Amino acid sequence: MKDLLIVGSGPAGISAALTAAARGLDFLWFGSRALSPKIAQAPEIANYPGLCRVRGCDFQKILQDQVGAMGLTIREERIDSIYAMGDSFTACVNETMYEARAVLLAVGVSTAGAVPGELEYVGQGVSYCATCDGALYRGKTIAVVSTNPAFEEEVTFLVQLAGRAYVSRSYPAPDAAGEPTGFPKSIRREDGRLQITYADGDRTVDGIFFLKDSVSPAVLMPGLAMDGAHIAVNRELETNIPGCFAAGDCTGRPYQYAKAVGEGNVAVHTALRWLKEKQQA
Ligand code: FAD
Repeated sequence: MKDLLIVGSGPAGISAALTAAARGLDFLWFGSRALSPKIAQAPEIANYPGLCRVRGCDFQKILQDQVGAMGLTIREERIDSIYAMGDSFTACVNETMYEARAVLLAVGVSTAGAVPGELEYVGQGVSYCATCDGALYRGKTIAVVSTNPAFEEEVTFLVQLAGRAYVSRSYPAPDAAGEPTGFPKSIRREDGRLQITYADGDRTVDGIFFLKDSVSPAVLMPGLAMDGAHIAVNRELETNIPGCFAAGDCTGRPYQYAKAVGEGNVAVHTALRWLKEKQQA
């Protein structure tokens, strides 16, 4: 049982992890050692105090060095789901579970919005986890949507498992597994199967897998209150679920490094106060 789980390794998660380490919290940090694609992709950053016209790739290196110098470890794992268990939280990565008294969501916002019908049929054919749900579709017809080459291993796993797999990719992947298709335009459920509309017509599948860097926080954590596409928080970065905090782009605009970094810091201070109050209760 840890004090805190930090989910996300963008500027909000980095700031949170640095603060949590400085305050001696016992925490686990999930994300990517590459930190966030939204750091490396920035052509030039001119609005971050202390750094004058730095390239995104250079900013990434500075942050990686700082994380390394602080001795912080980022677990290269994508959290599939988080459940509030009353006195604690359980986060699942495939079959592995992690437990903590508090959780901080710094998961960013997905640039790829949900396809109409996607959120409606989560658990009824729509899945975000190849390892968790893949076996349900052995020998069946599936669709796969992959938004990052890092997911190719999961795509291959699903294609080999399924009888037939239509695969949409947002990156070039010549000779890759599956039948290439465009991106789905909408999903509807008919007679227990999914009808997926593509630009070139409909296809009937048993399930569809969305492999994304970040999914809607409401899908990640059932019961989480949203304000449109963002996690609803107060000024202390508390969500509607006691012990769950959120920071960065996932809490709303402006989508900027300075705002994300500030919120990561505030959210950990709120978590510290909450943990202390809980201990004293
Ligand atoms: P993100 O940076 O999106 O990080 C979220 C992290 O969480 C990612 O690493 C993701 O992989 C991880 N994650 C998500 N779900 C999970 C999960 N389930 N399990 C584990 N990890 C997960 N802002 C500026 O202020 N100035 C600029 O010049 C600027 N330029 C930009 C240029 C580009 C091209 C882009 C795309 C953005 C730019 N931004 C700029 C915006 C800035 O990048 C974002 O505001 C900032 O990255 C938000 O930080 P974040 O930590 O909230 O989210």
